[in-house]
Amino acid sequence: MDFPPHHKAGFVAILGKPNVGKSTLLNALLGTKLAIVTPKAQTTRHRILGVLNGDDYQMVFSDTPGIIQPKYGLHRSMMKAAGSSLEDADAVLLMVAPEETFDERPLRELLGQVQAPIVLAVNKRDAYNQQAILQRVADWQDIKPARVVTLSALKGEGVEELRAALLDLLPECPPYYDKDTLTDRPERFFVTEIIREQVFLNTEKEVPYSTEVSILFFKDDDGEGRAHIEAEIHVERNSQKAIVIGKKGAMIKQIGTAARKQIQELLDKPVRLELYVRVADDWKNKEGYLKQFGYD
Ligand code: GDP
Ligand code: MG
Repeated sequence: MDFPPHHKAGFVAILGKPNVGKSTLLNALLGTKLAIVTPKAQTTRHRILGVLNGDDYQMVFSDTPGIIQPKYGLHRSMMKAAGSSLEDADAVLLMVAPEETFDERPLRELLGQVQAPIVLAVNKRDAYNQQAILQRVADWQDIKPARVVTLSALKGEGVEELRAALLDLLPECPPYYDKDTLTDRPERFFVTEIIREQVFLNTEKEVPYSTEVSILFFKDDDGEGRAHIEAEIHVERNSQKAIVIGKKGAMIKQIGTAARKQIQELLDKPVRLELYVRVADDWKNKEGYLKQFGYD
């Protein structure tokens, strides 16, 4: 692999409470939609690597689930995903927002174990006054951040400053991945995430949190230039299955139509998408199901 002298490379773990804008930032940094973003907390369940390539640097970001006190098996796996991305981090990006949500003790505990330099990023500066932003900067001074940046990930303001601050902290190192790598996840992972995002956007209360998606069948070309995908939407109870299917199938149709559009963009070709809704009783606590859905 060719790379210039003084090339920098390293791993950056994005940490923070749920809903502060971590996935929005990853997408803004990469200039593409990699991580799903919804107004609901705890949308992100897995660790996703996003690779930002410059001529003389490569930053490998891990978007992690927000740090919370685990309540069930799925939560424990989500927190493990967050913790493991810290182990090989060259820098940690701690993202906070002015709104006060969720207990911050689990996050502070995790930060206590961090050896790498921390960049404190206060997000959502488009939505709050300067005093609220500065208050959050003050609130987190005790973690002794190496750099402090305020930004709006949503509007793309301050994102470039943040990138520069992180680059400053990375070591000189050859690239870890090919320079055209965007992520470590295969296409079909993003297909399930797109479908899950539509369930999050179209259903309420506990339904999105009870939902998981898996691929049953995936064929790149059905012979007519279309991809053919069959996927299962798993819910925890019969009543949730009825909600996801909707009256005369209206809800599942809406979810399928919206998901298909995005999958077509992802794969850059027409897509035939078939969705099935199944009950996977109490899957969030069952090891077999968690394994099947890709959690360890
Ligand atoms: P995560 O849980 O930390 O990954 O947060 P998300 O990226 O999923 O964002 C959670 C919510 O905050 C979504 O509704 C985003 O649109 C919103 N959001 C993210 N960044 C900003 C920002 O800079 N300003 C405002 N006003 N909203 C934001
Ligand atoms: Mg997220």
